[in-house]
Parts: sequence; C-alpha cells; structure tokens
Amino acid sequence: MFKIYNTLTRSVEEFKPINPPNVGMYSCGPTVYDFQHIGHMRRYVGDDILIRVLKYNGFKLHHVMNITDVGHLVSDSDTGEDKMEKGAKKFGMSVWDIAKKFEEQFKNSCKALNINLPTGTNLMHATDYIPEQIALVKKLEEKGYTYKTEDGIYFNTSKFPDYFKLSRQDPEELKKGARVEFIEGKKNISDFALWKLSPKGESRQMEWESPWGVGFPGWHIECSAMSMKALGNHFDIHTGGIDHINIHHTNEIAQSEAATDKVPFSKFWVHHNFLIVNGEKMSKSLNNFYTVQDMINKGYDPLALRYLYLQTHYRQEMNFTWESLSGAQSAYKKLINDTKNWDLPKVGCAEFEERFLNAVNDDLNMSKALAIMWELIKSDYPSSAKSQTLRRFDLVLGLEIFAERKIEIIPQNILDFVSEREGFRKVGDFRASDEMRKKIRDLGYDIQDTKEGPVVTKI
Ligand code: AMP
Ligand code: ZN
Repeated sequence: MFKIYNTLTRSVEEFKPINPPNVGMYSCGPTVYDFQHIGHMRRYVGDDILIRVLKYNGFKLHHVMNITDVGHLVSDSDTGEDKMEKGAKKFGMSVWDIAKKFEEQFKNSCKALNINLPTGTNLMHATDYIPEQIALVKKLEEKGYTYKTEDGIYFNTSKFPDYFKLSRQDPEELKKGARVEFIEGKKNISDFALWKLSPKGESRQMEWESPWGVGFPGWHIECSAMSMKALGNHFDIHTGGIDHINIHHTNEIAQSEAATDKVPFSKFWVHHNFLIVNGEKMSKSLNNFYTVQDMINKGYDPLALRYLYLQTHYRQEMNFTWESLSGAQSAYKKLINDTKNWDLPKVGCAEFEERFLNAVNDDLNMSKALAIMWELIKSDYPSSAKSQTLRRFDLVLGLEIFAERKIEIIPQNILDFVSEREGFRKVGDFRASDEMRKKIRDLGYDIQDTKEGPVVTKI
C-alpha cells in the first residue's frame, strides 16, 4: 500500500486514486527564462521517483507538465518585472528564443538525470493554451468572482471562503505582515491577477487580445486551465516546490474550484523541499547556483547527482556540498563495479523486494531503499538472484545500474551555437547558418533540422 504526505491534510495518507488503476498527475514545470540549476532539478527527480513508485505499484500514469513560456512577474504579488522579458534582455534575445533555448537546456538536464519527462501534448506550453485561459477567466467573471482594476482582472478571494485551506495561513497575520507592494484597486491583500493588461504606451513582446483588452495571463491561471484541459476538473496528484503552497497552488485551487464547483480540484498535493548551499537557497538571484552541465564539466556523472538526491527525503531541506557529491560519486561507482560481473538474472530475492517496496511506499523513503539495496548487494544470495532483484529496484531508482551507458549530453556552448544558427536561419542568412553548422561539426556535433526544430547529436 502506497502512502504519501498530502499537504492538503498535513498527513501521510494511503494513496487511493479517483479511478484506479489510472492516476492523473500534474507537475508545475519550469519557467524557461534562464538556466535551470541543480536546485530546480532536485524537484524534477523527486517527481520522477514519485511516478516510478506509482508505476511500480501497478498504477497507470497520465502525467502532465507545463512549460511556463509566458511572462509572469518576478514577485508573487503581481508586481515587478516580467521574468521572460527580463531574461530576454539579459541574454539579448527575443522572448520566444529565450523560451526555446532554456526549454532545451531543461530537457537536456532531465535526460542526463534519467528523468522521464512527459512528451507530445502532455508537455503543455502556456502560450499554446491562451484561449483556454481566457475562457476560464470569463467563467469566473460570469460567476461573479472577479473585478477589474486599472491594470487587469483580479480574483476576489473574499468570495471564496476556503481560500486558506491549503496554506492554513491566518488572514489577520497576513494583513499585518503585508508589504507595501499593494496594487492600486486591489480589494484584499490575497487577491491575485487573472489577466494583466499591457501597460499603456509600452509594447510587450508577448501579448494577446482578450475580452478585457490586450494583455497577458496571470501566472496561476495557466496551471488551472492546462491541468483541467488534460486531466479534467478533478484529478489525483498535483506537485510543486514548497514555495508554491502559499500563493501559486492556493490560487490555483481557488480559481479552479470556484469555476467548476468540483472539490477538491486535486486530491493529493505533494511538495518538494529546497536544495540549499551554505545555508541559503540555491538561486539565480544569489548567484550560488550550478547547472547539471557544470557538474559534467567538473567530471561528475549526472547519475551520481541523482544518487545524491535520493539520499535526502524529499520533504527535508537538502544541503549541497562538493564533498557530498564526491561521496555520492564514489558510492555510485562502487555500485556499478560491485554488480558488473554478476550472473544473468534468475528468480529474485523476495524478502528484499518486499522490504524495498515497503520503504518506497512509506512516503518515498529513498534513503532506506538505498540502504536495503546495499544490504542486498552484500548478501550471500547468488548473484543471479541479486541481479534480478536489483533490476527491479532500478525501475524505481533510475540509476541505470546495468545499462551500457555513455554520457551523452550536449555541452552548453554547442547549444548556444545551435540557437545562434537558428537565428541566422530565421532571417534567411543561410550562408552564416551553414558556416555555423560547419563550426558545430568541427566540434564533433551534427545537426538535423526537423519539424520540432534542430536535433543535435554527437558524431
Ligand atoms: P525560479 O526559477 O528561481 O523562479 O524557481 C522556480 C521554481 O523552482 C521555484 O518556485 C521552486 O519551486 C523551484 N526551485 C527554485 N530554486 C530551488 C532550489 N534551490 N531547490 C529546490 N527547488 C527550487
Ligand atoms: Zn503551476
């Protein structure tokens, strides 16, 4: 029986899907305006493990993730600069190119960490679902949940009595702690934008027509519109970082349940804790971050990083140090070495399989699962039996223990050349684009142009 901590009830609960064995799961994905670092990646490995454990238990997953490729504002209170426009300025590219570049970087990091991302229409780009977002805002408007200010359409949280059910915040305390960023015309401190109007006299790279005027969606509405489009208005699991609890997910619940009257919007809410360095959250603004590519450049196997993530429970803060990564790399190498000459798999070790299943089913106790794995490796069972069992374990661990693997990750400088070449192609400068292709070839990589864009492979 799989048990998992549900933020909504603040308890570890038996996982019972709405429509077994099917499970609908939505993960809040990255905002593609800058590099995804190993702090971000901890979350996605966390979701990957959750999915693998669900499948291990026989559930059939419909997993959906969004890519936020439309600007939302730097601050949670609907003020400040637009993240995408800010990223575009920083890198001297258009917002559309920025989105492509960093989505590629994200996908490469996922591949290196052996994360199975959703594909096709299950990887949903916010800019592809603007009509659905507008329709949802309209529905909320019709039901009387919204009001208009100078700069947009807002959700009136005082009309939704259960607003604080996920965050369990005290509204009075919130008022006391309110910062000065209060927006003119906002009725309650917790109200949030559903649709923002483009500032007058300012042209934005991304903006759309709407019944309220040209503008862009508030951040939260995309996740409600896309998750409901893919999974219906009542589904099983919604995941994100712990920082999403108070605002983003709270707002998603309010606008979704207000629009559909279906409660709960998602049955389970799973939140991953942060990765920190020297006591501070790894983040772009503190400039204390590393990407997966940085790790590879320093000679680490990305799966050693995956191994390191597994050692800390997903609800605990994880402190990153280079020593701990080196330790994980040694353990990972030992794992591969100790098992490489084992006999071919035969009947497995039932006792270990049962203990492993109990560990992963206990709110994803992965460090215990690793300990059981090592106990198995050191045990006196014949290697053919151990081999069978370890292969089963690796369905969850994703450490590619028996795979013939060569690390094939495209270096960032190559990816930069590829997007430069795309720029040339877009403006029809095919000479420059061919030269760039040659330069990339000389560095050992080949490009194929496909409908989905360029695909790079090592020659
Ligand atoms: P950012 O790109 O910094 O706005 O972060 C986007 C999301 O990624 C956040 O809302 C978090 O859920 C997650 N995230 C960012 N930094 C970290 C970190 N150091 N550890 C874990 N998750 C993080
Ligand atoms: Zn989201």
